[in-house]
Amino acid sequence: MVGDVAGPELHTHTAHYQGEMAVMIALGDGTKPDLHAIPRATYTDPETASVGLMVDQAKEKGIDAVEFTQDLGTSAKGYVAQAEGHITIVVDRANHTLVGTFMAGPAVSEAIHEAVLAVKVGIRIEVLADTIHAFPTASRVFGTACIEAARSLAKPS
Ligand SMILES: Cc1cc2nc3c(=O)[nH]c(=O)nc-3n(C[C@H](O)[C@H](O)[C@H](O)COP(=O)(O)OP(=O)(O)OC[C@H]3O[C@@H](n4cnc5c(N)ncnc54)[C@H](O)[C@@H]3O)c2cc1C
Repeated sequence: MVGDVAGPELHTHTAHYQGEMAVMIALGDGTKPDLHAIPRATYTDPETASVGLMVDQAKEKGIDAVEFTQDLGTSAKGYVAQAEGHITIVVDRANHTLVGTFMAGPAVSEAIHEAVLAVKVGIRIEVLADTIHAFPTASRVFGTACIEAARSLAKPS
């Protein structure tokens, strides 16, 4: 099955991906669908976007998760767009990878894809923190959250 009827989430992009996967599998391609990093976007004002698990969901799965939040409204992007918002990241303390990201603010449905890739392939938070993000963007606020997380995780507990 593909699309809404198959789940696990109801989005056009998920239905499209599953359709492509179904064709490839039917043609004998050895591909395996990977649905653990599905972007979610809601085109409200402000936009919201997310991927992965919230901190409580992660803890329920036994992950040693911690969250970090940056206010987007007081960032350069917030001033330029005159918009409110936030970016929250959830990080696995054990392996320093991104477990989830939750965004509200201008253009976050575009900015979420760096987090989608990071959750999909398990990019370490230190790599995301060391990545240069354009100024002034929502992505840069995401980068600042990653810097805060990397610094916090580097401190001896
Ligand atoms: C108001 C609204 C806004 C949305 N906005 C977004 C968005 O911005 N981004 C996003 O990613 N997702 C959005 N979605 C969700 C998205 O539309 C669905 O996830 C997507 O269309 C699922 O594709 P599908 O092929 O599984 O189902 P559908 O697109 O619903 O296609 C199923 C098709 O099967 C047909 N059908 C049903 N029964 C039969 C039958 N017995 N025989 C023959 N044909 C049949 C239907 O007529 C329909 O054409 C939105 C949904 C709604 C309702």
